[in-house]
This record gives sequence, C-alpha cells and structure tokens, in this order.
Amino acid sequence: MNNLIKGLLLTILCFLGWKISFFFSLPAVQASVISPHSGIALAGILILGYRFWPAVWIAVFLALLTSGLEAQDSLSAGGFLFFIACRATSAIIQVLIAAFLVRHFMKPPYAMEKEEDIVKFLFVAGSVSSLAGSFLSTGVFYSFGIIKTDIFALRCLISWVGHILGVLIFAPLMMVFIGQPREVWSSRLRTVAFPVMIIFTLILVFFVYVKDQANKRSVKELALKSELIANKIKNHMDSYFQELYSLQGLYRSSVDVDRSEFKSFTRDLLKRGSILAYSWHPKVLPSEKEAFKERMRAELKMPFDIKFSPFNGTDPKTVAVSVHYPLAYIEPFNKYGKLAGIDIALDAKLLPAFDLAASSQELILSEPFYFKDDIQAVAAVLPVHENALAQSGVSDLKGFIVLFINAENLIYRDLKPFLGKDTFFDVFDKGIAGQGKQLYKKAFEGDVNEFLKTGADMSIANRSWRLDHYQLRRSLDINKEYSIHFIMAVIFFFLACLEIFLLIITGRQTLIKRLVLEKTQDLNKANELLQSEIIEKNKIAQDLERSNKELEQFAYVASHDLQEPLRMVASFTGLLEVKYKDKLDDTAREYIHFAVDGARRMQQLIDDLLEFSRVGQKDVPKEDVDLNKVCAQILQDCAVSIKENRATVLIEALPRIHANETQMRQLFLNLISNGIKYKSSRDPVIRVSCKQLSSFEWQFSVADNGIGIHEKNLDKLFVIFKRLHTKEEYKGTGIGLALCKKIVENYGGRIWVESVVDAGTTFNFILNVKRIF
Ligand code: ADP
Repeated sequence: MNNLIKGLLLTILCFLGWKISFFFSLPAVQASVISPHSGIALAGILILGYRFWPAVWIAVFLALLTSGLEAQDSLSAGGFLFFIACRATSAIIQVLIAAFLVRHFMKPPYAMEKEEDIVKFLFVAGSVSSLAGSFLSTGVFYSFGIIKTDIFALRCLISWVGHILGVLIFAPLMMVFIGQPREVWSSRLRTVAFPVMIIFTLILVFFVYVKDQANKRSVKELALKSELIANKIKNHMDSYFQELYSLQGLYRSSVDVDRSEFKSFTRDLLKRGSILAYSWHPKVLPSEKEAFKERMRAELKMPFDIKFSPFNGTDPKTVAVSVHYPLAYIEPFNKYGKLAGIDIALDAKLLPAFDLAASSQELILSEPFYFKDDIQAVAAVLPVHENALAQSGVSDLKGFIVLFINAENLIYRDLKPFLGKDTFFDVFDKGIAGQGKQLYKKAFEGDVNEFLKTGADMSIANRSWRLDHYQLRRSLDINKEYSIHFIMAVIFFFLACLEIFLLIITGRQTLIKRLVLEKTQDLNKANELLQSEIIEKNKIAQDLERSNKELEQFAYVASHDLQEPLRMVASFTGLLEVKYKDKLDDTAREYIHFAVDGARRMQQLIDDLLEFSRVGQKDVPKEDVDLNKVCAQILQDCAVSIKENRATVLIEALPRIHANETQMRQLFLNLISNGIKYKSSRDPVIRVSCKQLSSFEWQFSVADNGIGIHEKNLDKLFVIFKRLHTKEEYKGTGIGLALCKKIVENYGGRIWVESVVDAGTTFNFILNVKRIF
C-alpha cells in the first residue's frame, strides 16, 4: 500500500476516533472520558513511523473544525482556527511522546505476547504521555479563555482518564489490524478485536439510550419550567384584572362616577409596576354628544372634543358611527390627559376587543399595540352595564373601563429570574393563525439547532398568548451530570481490563504454540538422529556379528587344521627327546625340552580355541542333562588333581535340565578346576550350589577359598586370553572364563564374579533352562 493511502487511512481513523470522543464528552469541562484517537494515532505512528504525524494533525484539525465547539462562538474566525491548530498540535505532541517512550523502553516489533510486555506497553504508552497530553490540551483551552481556573484541574483529570482509556482500548485494537508480527496480531482478530468492538458498540448504544433518556428528562423539566413561567405571567395579569373588576363594581353600584372618584379609586392601583393607565369610556349617544362635551369641559377644565385619532398615529378615518365611547377619564391624568376625548374604540387594533367585550359582556384583551412613547402594550377592555342582571345586549351598555398594560415590562419581570446567556424567550400574541404579534423578545443569538425548544400557551382574557422557551443544549443539566460519565469511565475501564486479559490469554497461547512447535521440531530432529544412530548401530552390530562369525569360523578352521601338523611336531619332538636323550648335550636337550613344551602348550591352546569356537556354533544338540552326574564325572576326572591339592569339592543337589551336556561339563569343569588351581595357602574348599529364581531361571554358584581377585580386575576376567598371572605362576590359556561366559550367554543367562583377595572367589551364573523331572 502506498504511503499516501496509509496516511489517508490513518487520518480517517483518527478523525472517527475524535468524533467518538466528542460523543462521550462533557461539555461542561470540554473533555471526554474516552479518547480513541490517542490509541489509534499512537499505534499508527508506532507502526508506520514518526513521519506520519501530519496525518494525525490533519485529522484532529478537521474533527475540531466540524464539531461546533463553544469556542467557535466566543472566538473570532481567525482566533478559532488558531485555537484548533494549537489543540491539534498538543494532540500530536502527546502522541509523539507516547511513541518515543514505547520505542525507548521496548524493542519492536510489539507482539505483546508476555504479560510483562503488555503491561509495560500500556503503562508506558498510556499513563505518562496521557498526563502530558491532558495538561497540554487543558493549557490550550485555558490560554484561549475557553475554560476558567476553577475547572482546570478537573478537566486535566477527565482528559487524562480519557486518554489512558483511549490508549488502553484502541492502541491494541489498531495493532490487531496493522501490528507486527502479523501472525501474532492477526490471530487476535477473532479473539480480541471482535469481542472488544462488539462490547464497545453496545456501550455506545447504551450511552445513546442514557443520553436520550436524560435529554427527554431535560425536555420535560424545561417544559415544566415554561409552564411555570406562563402561569406566572397569567397570574400577574389575573391579579390586574381583579382590580379592573372591582372598578367595574364601583360603576355598577353608583349612578354616576365623577372624575375625582375615578382618580381616588385608581390611585393605589397605578402603583403597580406594569400598569400604564386606567381609563373610562362612557357610551355617548348622538343626542347626548353636545351635553357630554360641555360636561367634560367643565369637569376637566380643558378643551374637550370627541376625536377619532387612534394610537397608531394613522389618519382618522371618517367613520359613520352614531354611538361613541370617548375617553372621558384617564389616570395618571398628568401623563396621558391629552388623550381625553379620543374614541379609542375606533382604533383598528382595539376595535375588535371593544366589539367583543360589548357583545360578550366579558373582559377582553386586545392585540398588542404601541401605546404612547412606543411602549408595547395591551389593553384589557371591561364593559360596564347599567343593570348587571339584564344580559340583554348593548342597549344596557354604560361604557367601558380600560386597563393599559405595559406588556413587555410585565413579561420581563416574570422572566427575569430565568434569563441567562444560554436561555432565550419569545412571548407573542397568537392572533389569527400565522399572524402572531410579538409581545416580548430578547434578541436571539446562535444557531437554533443548538437549542432545545419548549413552550406553553396562555389564555388571558379571551386571548391566546404563547411562550417559546429556548435553552442552549450544551448548557443543559445533563451535560453537568458527572455521574453518568463516571459510570462510563468505569465501564470503559472494565472493557480495557477485559481486553488486556484477552491479550494476555492470546499472547500466552501463541507463545505456547510456538514453544510446542519449536520443541516438536527439536524432538523430530532428535528422533531422526536417534533413528539414524540406531540404524548405524544395527549395521555395526550386524557387521560385528558377521565378522565375529567369520572370526569364529576362521578360529575353528585354523585350530582344527593346525591340530594335525602340531601333533606331528609335538610327537616327533617328544620322540626326539626320548630317543636321543643320551646322545645330546645338555643345551640341546634343554632346547628340545622348550620345543616340546611349546608344542604342548600350543596344542592346549588350539584345543581350547577349538572348544571356544565350537560353543559359538549353531544347532548344538540339547538333551536331558543331570547336573549331579556331570559334576560327579568331573570329580572322577579330576581325582588326581583333587588329591594332590588336598582339595574338598562340595556339591549341593543340582537339577536335571534341558541342555548340551558337553557345554555343561565345560562350564562346571572350568570353574571347579580354577577353584583348585588358584588356591591359597589353605587347603582348597570348593562349593557348588544352586537356587531356582523362577520356573526357567536357575542361579548357580561355584565358590572357593582361594587367592581371590583384586577388585580392579573383576570386569576383565571374561575377556578371551585375559590372564592375571604368568604361565610360570599358573598354567593356562586365558580362554576358560571366556568360554564359560559364552556358554552361559548361549542359554540366555549371565555370569558375574564376587571376590575378596586372599579370602576367596565366587562365580555366579544364571541359566535360562527348562527343568526336567
Ligand atoms: P586360565 O585359568 O587358563 O588362566 P581362565 O579364563 O580360566 O584362564 O582364567 C582367567 C584368569 O582369571 C586366570 O588367569 C586367573 O588369574 C583368574 N582366575 C580364574 N579363576 C580364578 C579363581 N577361582 N581364583 C582366582 N583367580 C581366578
């Protein structure tokens, strides 16, 4: 993959990571409890190299640019760009520190197979650099005046936690896709990445749900608040209307209310904040018109005429009306006395209210209009009838009492406690559909999408008012709900622990798998070596057996063929010695003696060799052999030697076995005769004994009290031609024990010797033979 595509992918992933972090952020401190981009960027830089830092920087810059940050409102366009550039730089510094520390303390590739490697990686990558990162980013926020000193430490802490969790969860996740060595990381796709991603998605869904619930709660609370404010406004108006009704009572109870009475009655009422004026509008018929004017002039002591000028200052229309309701009294008079005489019932905006009040005989509120001095006002029009009980229509109408209310003032007073920089209100008279008129408005700032809107309707004196309530979303209480973010942090922490656990398990598995593979390979190698050694050894053994066989064959043939010529040499030198004994001098006789002796010894040697090679021959016949008889025969044959040496040979009861008699004889003869031959100064005593080891196993012992054998020579005895003494000391060929060994081994047995110098020697041997009964 080319570097540009790699960089682009890293940018996209970091961008998405940053968006997720925004999703979990706490606007109150402008920090998030999880910052996936930290982990993604770290893994990216670690694997791809430091030169990929611009990819991360661009991702952060773009993410900040498109997130509708609060800073966007408070900073100028250039200032905001500079701010997000600084913020992106702080993020890059954090990632570079983390990557540097990991590279410094650990050796790539980062397979994370062993527990200590995993913990070390996450600790080095997660804690120190995240701390630095959280300080840097908080510093940027602080220096641009976006956060205040009071939340500096809190923001550092939350941001730190967010970065740690981001690294713990997302760095290994990212490594699963790009980490080296691939065979280790890709094996973690199903075991680590999928479960963690699924759980993370579930957490995301859970958080959306919780946020939505909290949002709904906020909307509900806000709607309640709107209702409360609307009620306040309505109550205020109602309290004014009560006073209007009491004035109506005055008119009903007295025949005529003069100006001073009107003034004194309304004096106290006027003290209330939002009331502009009270006025009295009597009904004047055309016939009474002039008399009324006269009376008013006298009473008001000023020129008085019935005029048509409405409040809005438009030209009076010539209205052909017969009945007038001119303004007779108004309080405070000194302020609005000039309005006297105006028939305001003819004003376009007030006419509907007067008409409706007259026809319904109820208190009617007018639509909003501009009173004197551009005051946004409403008029409450209350009809006064001659006879309260006679509900018979306009003919009873005496006139109207009107209350002018400063609407904006009244509403502002009730809204004042709720106003703030994140809250806006709009109160308007709904009028006819779609033609609502503003009663109160604070200049609205910001994007309406960032505000939550609720509201309430009010029905006031037969008119519909509407309160619209706007609340900046990010200033809602939910955004100050640390508890849910704390819970999210704990959940993410557990997810991180689970991920570490999975990493450890999979790390161990791959480690064990590799070890097993290595050991299996070693074992296979060793096996192959062993096999070839065994084959080699078998070959050697076969070669050895063959050469042994050949040697035996050779020894047999040689000794057999040598026997004849040697016998001739021996017998003729023997004859020479006997016949020419007297004719030869001493030296010649000695030479002949040596020749005779040599020939005899050679004869003995060849005899023994022949015996020895015969034992190795196959197909030796086996029969019932009574060992008692064999030994008895030996004693007979050796009678002379036994007698000469004053030897005692004790033979225990021996079994009858299935064997070759000649070989049994050679075996026992050799051992018994050695016992006599190698006698000490004591008279020799030889014991032949036997015990049965198992149904086919017999152990025999031939023990003497002779010179004994030194320990160091014990293992050499059974080697052919091996002698421990010279022929001058003891006659012999050194073949006897080798022959015994060969015979014993022919019967699947073994022979060994125990001896103490000067105390005696015991030869033990085991024969695998069948006993004959
Ligand atoms: P040879 O008796 O013909 O020398 P053997 O094979 O019978 O040959 O014995 C080998 C050697 O073992 C002998 O030379 C002797 O030194 C020693 N040996 C054999 N039997 C005894 C014994 N019973 N006591 C002491 N030494 C013995």
